[in-house]
Amino acid sequence: MNKILPNSAEARDVAYHFHGYTNARAHEENGPVIMETGKGVRVFDNNGKSYIEAMAGLWSVAVGFDEDRLADAAYQQMCKLPFYHNFSHKSHGPVVDLAEKLISMAPVPMSKVFFTNSGSEANDTIIKLVWYRSNAMGKPEKKKIISRLRGYHGVTALSASLTGLPNNHRSFDLPFEGIKHTTCPHYWKDGQDGETEEEFATRCAKDLDAMIQAEGPDTVAAFIAEPIMGAGGVVVPPTTYWEKIQAVLAEYDILLIADEVICGFGRTGKMFGSETYDIKPDIMTMSKQITSSYIPFSAFMINERVYEPVADESNKIGVLGHGYTGGAHPVGAAVALENIKIIEERNLVQNAAETGAYMQEQLGALLDHPLVGEVRGQALIAAVEVVPPTGREAEFNPGVLGGRLNALMAENGVISRNMMDALAFCPPLIITRDEVDEVVDILGRSLNQLD
Ligand code: PLP
Repeated sequence: MNKILPNSAEARDVAYHFHGYTNARAHEENGPVIMETGKGVRVFDNNGKSYIEAMAGLWSVAVGFDEDRLADAAYQQMCKLPFYHNFSHKSHGPVVDLAEKLISMAPVPMSKVFFTNSGSEANDTIIKLVWYRSNAMGKPEKKKIISRLRGYHGVTALSASLTGLPNNHRSFDLPFEGIKHTTCPHYWKDGQDGETEEEFATRCAKDLDAMIQAEGPDTVAAFIAEPIMGAGGVVVPPTTYWEKIQAVLAEYDILLIADEVICGFGRTGKMFGSETYDIKPDIMTMSKQITSSYIPFSAFMINERVYEPVADESNKIGVLGHGYTGGAHPVGAAVALENIKIIEERNLVQNAAETGAYMQEQLGALLDHPLVGEVRGQALIAAVEVVPPTGREAEFNPGVLGGRLNALMAENGVISRNMMDALAFCPPLIITRDEVDEVVDILGRSLNQLD
């Protein structure tokens, strides 16, 4: 237990600040870690301790923690027009420019961009539009959504229902009816004895097919998935997984939503995860790295197949009854435009591919360690599965070793994140080989301290 001094920032945090994704009682006991400054891939706490932020915050700070150009873009926009909205035909320069830019970057032909404030809000809005579209097409029964076990799509009531993780449902009375979760393509965990990755991918596609058949193909509107699952444990799909899944969706005329909230803007070594896996989505969700998370912002793109019926329906009703005060925020859009410019000018997608390949290689070398069960990843996103020493499996509940290793990493100066026993790495796209070496050295050292 940390000693919390009276009236310290830590004490006041415990007194007044209710944290998300935190055990509230454990927080009262232990208090927070308070971060104060950032520089490059590093952040510094209020005791001056330095950490490499090997999770880029929340999978999201692409350009590092001290990019003045983003601060300047926000400042300039705040001076010029600090707020405007896009209701009732209003618009402004930054969202026009950004919408055009995003459409030009899309890996498949897209038609329109809708702006929101968070990944959760974007996915929530997407599902509402999918329902609206089904009604517009005279198919009111086509409303079910299929997502995946361990998938992560957010925390609003609807997006948390899409999420396939128990803690996002338990005690919240979720998921909503009509949202189903199919097999997660986690070969290391869920592959059966003797089953090849290829056979496992086929089984995943068959499970999806069987679920659609059981629900009734005419009742299923869309399938949502991350190209690589992030919060579910960095689950990299088998090579042929996406091809097989897309074949099933095409057979039943089911929309494909690619949730690019983590994979988008370079993370997987291409601009979008959909390019890495040859995914052809109808809808793409974007957030996090779109502004390097310097300001809350999100967006999604839809193709003509989605836009046309929705546009017709809004005309029939007289309005699209949906929109957020802060959606299409000019400051967020200005920061996103500058952030994308930096990603392009500094070849950060290429750095993600090259330094990412190096990171995978260096992490892969840890497979020799007796406490490492698997290393998986793609470019600058990876997970290392920690396993108990042989013969001592019964001593450790799932997640215990991962939690301990994560705490040791922080003590040793690297912020990682454990999802049960998978330790995730998702550093800023600006990371160098030397910084990767530091992270991997500290991981090796922390593994040796683990008991
Ligand atoms: N989708 C994915 C793939 C995510 O990883 C996240 C957040 O981690 C979300 C959606 C939700 O985004 P937000 O936390 O901005 O609501």
